[in-house]
Amino acid sequence: MLPSENEIPQTSASEVALLPLITDLTRDQLAQWCIDHESSSYRADQIRRWIFTKRVNDFDAMHDISKKFRDLLKENFRLFSTRIVKHQTSKDRTEKLLLALHDGHHVECVLMREPKRNTVCISTQVGCAMGCVFCASGLLGLTRNLTMGEILEQILRLDRIIGEEERVSNIVVMGIGEPLANLSALIPALDTLNHKGGMGIGARKITVSTVGLPVKIRELADVNKSYILAVSLHAPNDTLRDQIVPTNNKIGIQKILDATDYYYVTTGRRVTFEYILLAGVNDSPAHAHELACLLKHRNAHVNLIPANGVEETGYKTPTTEDVDRFFMTLAKGGVNVTVRKRKGDDIDAACGQLRLNREKEKDLVQIQ
Ligand code: SAH
Repeated sequence: MLPSENEIPQTSASEVALLPLITDLTRDQLAQWCIDHESSSYRADQIRRWIFTKRVNDFDAMHDISKKFRDLLKENFRLFSTRIVKHQTSKDRTEKLLLALHDGHHVECVLMREPKRNTVCISTQVGCAMGCVFCASGLLGLTRNLTMGEILEQILRLDRIIGEEERVSNIVVMGIGEPLANLSALIPALDTLNHKGGMGIGARKITVSTVGLPVKIRELADVNKSYILAVSLHAPNDTLRDQIVPTNNKIGIQKILDATDYYYVTTGRRVTFEYILLAGVNDSPAHAHELACLLKHRNAHVNLIPANGVEETGYKTPTTEDVDRFFMTLAKGGVNVTVRKRKGDDIDAACGQLRLNREKEKDLVQIQ
């Protein structure tokens, strides 16, 4: 039997900042630490196996490591740095965690179950600086980047909640924050998820969603791991995109498309374009025609996301008829298109909403 999340060590806020988080070290850094402490790099691989595949909750459970070395690990590292503040389970078995970080800030992560896959959605920042007008995550601005270990810990927490026979099979980096604004932590985190000595999840099962930062898209392409890139386009022209995705003002759609073309050529991986449907804003047949013209000669995939209403933003989700009409216009225009399935409707609300509600509960902020 796996422990329930209540049995997983819940580090208290005063304890947590004391020791470095072991998952903040890359495999090579941990190997070097082991060598420096009179062991071998093989020891690092053993430790990582216990953490990433054998789901241990404390160093003492690492049975093939000597007690002396386990004590050394305990003196020098913390295995977890977060506390589960809220755990919601929806009717469709989607699970959502609100995690408190060592400095009292919060992030969210979600586990979505489907018959043949278990997808985890993770956050990369506390808050977000991008300011997309429909999004709950950016309403309070950016507080800080997550570390590599904090990014990985979201998956480790959910992996320990999931049933014993189940495993996390897919990762979507679509939680709070702009992942490409935190590439220095994201790339080694993805590497650990992908690597056989880490979680061993194939690159084509890892999706990184970005607001569209061309220089960073090229940097990710050059890592050349064939992760799936999803770009939050949300509008077919700059005039409209400038209004709903403020970062577009300085960038423009063309530079983003040039960068996604580079991503496709470099990795061989078809790019996904996410398109949130906001009732009366970007969901008309004319918008769909314009989007089809932009993308039909590209090997691209469009994922339509009917908006989750966020009370503070005032944006609304379109009717099913409007979503269908938009879908059909794109499909007839020669674009490969799908509509995102909604999961965890009864617990979810929109991305970043749980954290936002928590901040409001604490009465820390006033949302205008
Ligand atoms: N910053 C990244 C990833 C985080 S958001 C990005 O912009 O892609 C993940 C996806 O959820 C993005 O496509 C984002 O635009 C979308 N999203 C944000 N708020 C939403 C809402 N209220 N309803 C539906 N989708 C939303």
